[in-house]
Amino acid sequence: MSTETFEFQVEARQLLQMVIHSIYSNKDVFLRELISNASDALDKLRLEALRDDSLGVDVSDLHIELDADQEARTLTVRDNGIGMSYDEVKQLIGTIANSGTAKYLQDLKGAKEAGDTEGLIGQFGVGFYSSFMVADEVVLLTRRAGESEGTRWTSSGEGTYTLESTAEAPQGTSVTLRLRPVDTEDQLHDYAATWKIREIVKRYSDFITWPIRLAAPATDATDAPPATDAPGADGEEQATAAREPETLNSMKALWARSRDEVSEAEYHELYKHISHDWTDPLETIRLQAEGTFEYQALLFIPSRAPHDLFTQGYQRGIQLYVKRVFVMDDCEALMPPYLRFVKGVVDAQDLSLNVSREILQQDRQIELMRRRLAKKVLSTVKDLQAKAPERYSVLWREFGRVLKEGLITDAENRDAILAGCSFASTRDQEEPTTLKQYVERMAQGQEHIFYLTGESRQALENSPHLEAFRARGIEVLLLTDPVDEVWVDAVPGFDGKELRSVAKGDVPLGADQEEQQEEREQRQQEYAGLLAWMTQRLGEQVKEVRLSARLTVSPACLVSDTHDATPALENLYRAMGQDVPRGKRILELNPGHPLVTGLNAAHAQEAEHEALAEAVELVYGMALLAEGGQLDEPSRFIKLMADRLGRTL
Ligand code: ADP
Repeated sequence: MSTETFEFQVEARQLLQMVIHSIYSNKDVFLRELISNASDALDKLRLEALRDDSLGVDVSDLHIELDADQEARTLTVRDNGIGMSYDEVKQLIGTIANSGTAKYLQDLKGAKEAGDTEGLIGQFGVGFYSSFMVADEVVLLTRRAGESEGTRWTSSGEGTYTLESTAEAPQGTSVTLRLRPVDTEDQLHDYAATWKIREIVKRYSDFITWPIRLAAPATDATDAPPATDAPGADGEEQATAAREPETLNSMKALWARSRDEVSEAEYHELYKHISHDWTDPLETIRLQAEGTFEYQALLFIPSRAPHDLFTQGYQRGIQLYVKRVFVMDDCEALMPPYLRFVKGVVDAQDLSLNVSREILQQDRQIELMRRRLAKKVLSTVKDLQAKAPERYSVLWREFGRVLKEGLITDAENRDAILAGCSFASTRDQEEPTTLKQYVERMAQGQEHIFYLTGESRQALENSPHLEAFRARGIEVLLLTDPVDEVWVDAVPGFDGKELRSVAKGDVPLGADQEEQQEEREQRQQEYAGLLAWMTQRLGEQVKEVRLSARLTVSPACLVSDTHDATPALENLYRAMGQDVPRGKRILELNPGHPLVTGLNAAHAQEAEHEALAEAVELVYGMALLAEGGQLDEPSRFIKLMADRLGRTL
């Protein structure tokens, strides 16, 4: 077949542009990325060979080989793994499949203008494309196991690539980089130098469980870094002996080694290998389960939420190994959905290599494992909260929204999740509070944990529902994540204290004194006529009009009945495509407000006049606006208001 030229998909092109033109400070990581891909390819081949006897490939010496040519200034990373077919190359290397990428790249472009591509490239992890940080041309030669034709892919990373079928490809993949010229000043980044390759492999890829071999040339002037003044004797000896390929890595699976044998840095590199994230994780979690069902787990909490954490296609889960053999990526059966941000490896002793996702979903042992892993993650969250407040606050900022989903879906761990949560509150602008701290601060006589849900802190702070609480110095949690609307209904309480919305039902602000009680009853009588009349007038919009105990400043507000959905929750369900009828709410009036006393006086004189009816409509509209709601007929509201104002001038 002849050579064909293709254009990169738009997003891929944008990403490449950024990789080529950014000055990502740690270019060394390109090699880690290529080795990581090669290692995955070997994992896949071994698994396929184990599952399919007829594949007919030799898997007795699976390895990665690095081959540097000083003179030609090339570096080749070669594996005898699964390889790719012609179509796979086109699909996998020419496009970015990840959902949400287009939007993400927009953000990247924004950041580029602001000068932070480094951080964003690092967060995204550009995999194979990172080759173009150090190479001006890349040739990928590959043949899929079981196929006879190979494919050669060539590109300079600038817009197009060529594809060509070839009979001359060994099974597996080799990636050859034509390295950019090294700055004479910058010998430390000479990627054709064997000392440099050795250093990078040791630092980033030591734990890779496949041998990473260096195909050493007979003579090598680059065995030692240029700056170190090594005595010449060694060098001469090496120059004459033809050397065997040298294995650069120790190949020990980190999760199988004891904790004190492994450095934090090594764990971090494993994390980067499995997560494709270029940033260190926030926390590393180890777990060894002995007994009838033995497994080892190494879990990581990332330090940043991936950009697609809330999109439909987000690939969640843990890598599953069976006795050191890689079996499955994104094994969702091992983590509940609300912990989908957790990355890691689980190596189980007693599973079949042929295990499928469906089987895992139903397996009792796996379920026990999932529960145990979830508990372990939650206890880590709690530990961080208690002992490392700064890291905890990063975790909460990045993943709090996801964790709270567990309050709805994981009844078994609800208390543990709740204990690990923190919430904004009226007590402090900046510092969130835990429920435990809230309860400790509760005043004598306060029996509930009060909260208010809504869109933003600012909207909540201005909500009339808070007035009486503010006046009495009662702390209220301010919940602004969409998921908050839902879990508050699922969680009965904390530490024996019921959760109560300040925008729902009656507000039990504390026991009334007897005379207050009397005063209330008297007021109720005074207003009975107005309330009944208004309830009937506004019957389309509200189910009741009553006097309020929660207002001190505003004339009126709307509240939901104790067990009714809030308008925000209704909207949430509508956004999810459910047909939810609009529930009627309760209009509460502040009998201490002149507008309300005025209404009452006017009503006492003559109930049925037009001006009073209009005033009632305006009061309802104001209550709706005060909580950030939307008027059915804004133009009518404005006209009524403008007419009234006109008359007062
Ligand atoms: P990522 O590794 O993050 O998926 P890459 O751009 O590095 O992204 O690679 C894209 C895909 O190309 C990989 O997921 C894999 O399917 C395929 N690929 C890359 N390198 C190899 C390789 N050496 N052998 C087989 N497949 C590979």
